Amino acid sequence: MSTPAPPTDSDLNAQPFLERPLSRLLGTKSATPLAKLGLHTAHDLLHHHPRRYAEPGRLTDVTGLTEGEHVTVMAQVLSATTRTMRSRAGALFTVTVTDGNHPLTLAFFAKRAGALRIHEDKLRPGRVALFTGTVRDYRGERQLTHPDYIIIGEDAHDKAQALDEAARPIPIYPASASAPTWRIERAVATVLGQLRPEDLTDPLPTELRQRQHLLSAYDAMTKIHQPRTDTDWHSARHRFRVEEAFVIQCALVQRRHHNAHLQATPRTPHTGGLLDAFDARLPFTLTDGQRTVGTDIAADLTKAHPMQRLLQGDVGSGKTVIALRAMLQVIDAGGQAVLLAPTEVLATQHLATIRELLGPLASAGMLGATDNATSVVLLTGSLPTAQRRQALLDAASGAAGIIVGTHAVLSDNVSFADLGLVVVDEQHRFGVEQRDALRTRANTIPHMLVMTATPIPRTVAMTVFGDLDISTLNDMPAGRAGITTHVVPSTNDTWMNRVWARIREEIDAGRQAYVVCPRISDTTPEEQPTPQPTTDTLLDIPETTTTRTLTSVEETAQKLRDMPLFADIAIATLHGAMNATDKDHAMTTFAQHTTPILVATTVIEVGVNVPTASTMVILDADRFGISQLHQLRGRVGRGTDPGICLLVAPPDPQSLAHQRLTAVASTTDGFALAAMDLELRSEGDVLGAAQSGRASSLRHVRVIKDHDLILQARHDAQELIAQDPQLQGYPHLRDAINDYVGAEREEYLDRA
Ligand code: ADP
Ligand code: MG
Repeated sequence: MSTPAPPTDSDLNAQPFLERPLSRLLGTKSATPLAKLGLHTAHDLLHHHPRRYAEPGRLTDVTGLTEGEHVTVMAQVLSATTRTMRSRAGALFTVTVTDGNHPLTLAFFAKRAGALRIHEDKLRPGRVALFTGTVRDYRGERQLTHPDYIIIGEDAHDKAQALDEAARPIPIYPASASAPTWRIERAVATVLGQLRPEDLTDPLPTELRQRQHLLSAYDAMTKIHQPRTDTDWHSARHRFRVEEAFVIQCALVQRRHHNAHLQATPRTPHTGGLLDAFDARLPFTLTDGQRTVGTDIAADLTKAHPMQRLLQGDVGSGKTVIALRAMLQVIDAGGQAVLLAPTEVLATQHLATIRELLGPLASAGMLGATDNATSVVLLTGSLPTAQRRQALLDAASGAAGIIVGTHAVLSDNVSFADLGLVVVDEQHRFGVEQRDALRTRANTIPHMLVMTATPIPRTVAMTVFGDLDISTLNDMPAGRAGITTHVVPSTNDTWMNRVWARIREEIDAGRQAYVVCPRISDTTPEEQPTPQPTTDTLLDIPETTTTRTLTSVEETAQKLRDMPLFADIAIATLHGAMNATDKDHAMTTFAQHTTPILVATTVIEVGVNVPTASTMVILDADRFGISQLHQLRGRVGRGTDPGICLLVAPPDPQSLAHQRLTAVASTTDGFALAAMDLELRSEGDVLGAAQSGRASSLRHVRVIKDHDLILQARHDAQELIAQDPQLQGYPHLRDAINDYVGAEREEYLDRA
């Protein structure tokens, strides 16, 4: 490949304004720190919106500052003094600032007192400024050392302008130490100064914009960055949210529209088949929810276009039976079904569960099989070659009615005789692209059922899974003993001894216990690091994370083995780095009570079902998110024995992490927890929690708070696409949809 010639000036001018590099618009010196924030072009910078706006009249409450955090605060100078230091050479300039109620100290050091004059001149009592720096603890007091700062109203030419300047909302950008918020503000001003209205295209149809009284794209861009009043940024932000919600909904509605025109083979139920035989031998009666959802699915399967349904139901609500009944309907109609699980442990377990539930109905080809029996095979990445070859053969010949597998089913060159239904269990590890990949495996497009145990609020579902129909299981099978949850301070030895003693009591009563740790061994990182929640009360990106040593599976197992309390108890371990045979062995010996304690990572999080397991101890529980804890806890209390879940963490009642633990302990209602989770999390995490494989694409819309706006966008999108399905008349909207879908795809590829 030849190296392209460096671009000439006229090339660069021909380049659309938004694509121009910041280094050229601002100079390298200003552009470099911005690049570290991921801002490279005019487009990047203009779409880097203020996180919030400070009102000059309202100072930041300094009582909320946490040590180690990088913050920006608005405060007024109370007093300032310079003195030479006794202990070492040099001078110290200390400034006491106030938020109106509480003082905060700033400290500036220099070799000579003269070097501090520049600060003394600026930080005079009465002045209001934005200060940014890292919070330190100095003799029990919060302090900012050498904060960067900008005086409010200082640049004004006269008093009138200073007043005006002081009255406008001040944008506070997500910033870093090398690019503090006011540097970003200045960079934005430079770029905005060169932006012309025609540089921005508007994906919103004019009619929609006028009907909803929305700002133009250009006005919104200037007002989000340089508001004169609060109304300015409110209406600008509103417009960005509407735009984003609308583009996403158009993408999803278009997808649905497209789907409705795809062909699938109808799978009509027929009497006297496997499904009837199965229902007749089911040891329990279906819950009302299971029946209703079952009816919806059965109806979907008889249609000539592919079902695309999401089934959400709390942990233990009985989704497997629903899936199995759908699979049997398809087999009765001559097709095959695939059940995909996110892990090999879960796939193996599904295989066992399904074989057990089906009994003789799953013994096709074996001695004593019933007439219409089918066969269930396992297909995972780590099967021995011979077994794998046989499974592939059975899938291709149609001998296997049900194929249970992991991602291997996707990546392999598997062919099916007649694939009619794909069930994806625990959707969160499966993105849109994976669903697409599976669909292309079959001659006609199979029906699709996606199941998740994470309750998804309606607008989240609509935003994240808006291309799917949604069913919700609201009831639980009767006769569950339930779970009690407690938060245990890890620093309290008495409590910790009680935790281990409790496990011993449960084992003696014939039950088992899980102990969950965030890491495999002392030398490995966390298996699934949980994103740290960001606080929105303070303005900047937190730069610090805790550095305590987290517990690991290997060390914890050893520690328990060394305890006299467990001298006669065998302890097994389970984690993601083990091979499939060892994992199976660990699960089996645990289920059989041979190794009644299983020390594991979150590999046991989804779906694992050992009904006699009663206790779940989660170490470093503050490292896990709410839905993850709820999932983990769902592994116990599944049978007739009451479950107990102990969340062990260092005591830190003020922290968000601790609030999560308290929330989990307060209720076992997954929907209530999802709501609390949303209150505590930032939006990015919310979408993570929706287990979607789509996280960062949402920049403006807040999936819960913007409920009405999302519903409206959905409605508008449906109307528009009904009338112009290909959006022929809306090229800018089409571009925006492509950008959105493209960004999602990139994100998916990044993760894969
Ligand atoms: P999940 O929805 O978490 O996947 P499962 O499908 O694993 O839940 O069901 C949990 C347990 O409840 C299983 O042992 C299953 O056999 C049992 N179960 C399912 N439906 C019912 C029912 N209607 N009555 C009693 N037990 C049920
Ligand atoms: Mg399940």
